[in-house]
Amino acid sequence: MNNKLYLNQAIQLAVENVSNNGGPFGAVIINKQGEIIGRGQNRVTDCNDPTAHAEIQAIRQACENLQTFQLDTCTLYTSCEPCPMCLGAIYWARLEKVYYAADQNLAAASGFDDAFIYDEIAKHHEARSIPFHLLPLKEKVLPFKVWDQHTAKVEY
Ligand SMILES: [Zn+2]
Repeated sequence: MNNKLYLNQAIQLAVENVSNNGGPFGAVIINKQGEIIGRGQNRVTDCNDPTAHAEIQAIRQACENLQTFQLDTCTLYTSCEPCPMCLGAIYWARLEKVYYAADQNLAAASGFDDAFIYDEIAKHHEARSIPFHLLPLKEKVLPFKVWDQHTAKVEY
């Protein structure tokens, strides 16, 4: 019912962000009561942080506010279709659903083209524009061994 209202808030954050040295992206997260618990704006260039996308910023703030690492009863509203990084973060945060206004084609027309990252995912690791090399050291099992045996772990 209020979906358009929340999505417009995300768009407003995106618009305001441009005149504040940020990229044209904004996001809000609401809890199941409909309260805004996280807001995010793209701060990549201003903060020298390539992960400071609006969705990531909103997820961080919402998790901080709720003191949790899972947002499974929350909804994300974002001014633009999430990029692959944010898509991954949305799944890790286990948000209940996502609403977005602009699609990736509209973003690409303004120079924000993330389609190539989606293309990279399907490529063989060593054929990617940033090559990924598998070095299967025998020590590779150690982190999982200690994790499996750790009795005080918090699973997620
Ligand atoms: Zn993103």
